[in-house]
Amino acid sequence: MRCKPTDWDVIQGEKCKICGKRAEISLIYGPHHYCKQHFLYLTEKRVKRTIRKYSLIKPGEKILLTMSGGKDSSVAAYLINKIFSKSCEIKALLIDEGIKGYRDKSIEFAKKNCEEWNINYKVIKFEEEYGTTMGKIQKMIMKDHSLGNPCSFCGIMRRQLMNKYARTVKADKLVTGHNLDDECQSILMNVCDNKPELFVRLGPKSGIIKTSEFVTRVKPLYEISENEVFAYANFAGIKYYGGECCPLSHKAKRNEYRETINRLEKAYPGTKYSTINFFERIKNMLKKDAYSEFRLKQCELCSEPCSTGICKVCEKLNAIRK
Ligand code: SF4
Repeated sequence: MRCKPTDWDVIQGEKCKICGKRAEISLIYGPHHYCKQHFLYLTEKRVKRTIRKYSLIKPGEKILLTMSGGKDSSVAAYLINKIFSKSCEIKALLIDEGIKGYRDKSIEFAKKNCEEWNINYKVIKFEEEYGTTMGKIQKMIMKDHSLGNPCSFCGIMRRQLMNKYARTVKADKLVTGHNLDDECQSILMNVCDNKPELFVRLGPKSGIIKTSEFVTRVKPLYEISENEVFAYANFAGIKYYGGECCPLSHKAKRNEYRETINRLEKAYPGTKYSTINFFERIKNMLKKDAYSEFRLKQCELCSEPCSTGICKVCEKLNAIRK
């Protein structure tokens, strides 16, 4: 099963819509064809439009970039730094989950990019924060499959660390590299799992209520597809980890959704945009319901914010300890 793009679309013989030079990328849903230079220019323009449309970042804010070294977070960091380096204070957070042969390699790209782009960064390790690594958690899961899959641990632990650190450095916004494909997969997964309450966590800007406990997460690549991010990274010469996918991802449900949505997009170009547009239309209705039911609590064990008595991270780690 493919977990990352291997190429972007280009229809041979087509010309750039703007300058008439040979097209190097075709956006099939248009259909539009662009040369490298105009694709870079337009992608940047689209990201700026997303930021304005959803008020993701404002000049003067403190920004914390989350960087893994992969193409998505590298492109998001590159663009945010390019657009806001003069008007915002920017820092980066690199989380090391302890996945040997994967994260140790990818994080090196994140460090090098931060150094090249003059971004102060901090590395935080699962081992130091939680006393365990994803490698160790995986071993426990192998012994007891009822614990779930590795991603269900990794995702919530990473989100908790991001929020905790963003609070520590008093960041106004936490930038992630989520792209259009990630968002479509999450929407469809929540539909198929019958979990409309999780919809309120999606969208370009997280959070159903404004609270000092949660730092708002923003997704500047929300309207840029994975293939476009991939092409952008290559055209712009951004260095990123392009090796093997996470060795713990083989069980990730998301992989099935990725394949399905890509098949639909191929058969019906524009499906991905229609999915997020549909979601945007119903999100506000859902927000009202969720808001009236939402009560912020503090985890009884670690004091981190949560919506139940014990946060999901403690719940999962306790299951492992038992
Ligand atoms: Fe973590 Fe799963 Fe992503 Fe691997 S694929 S880094 S285990 S969330």
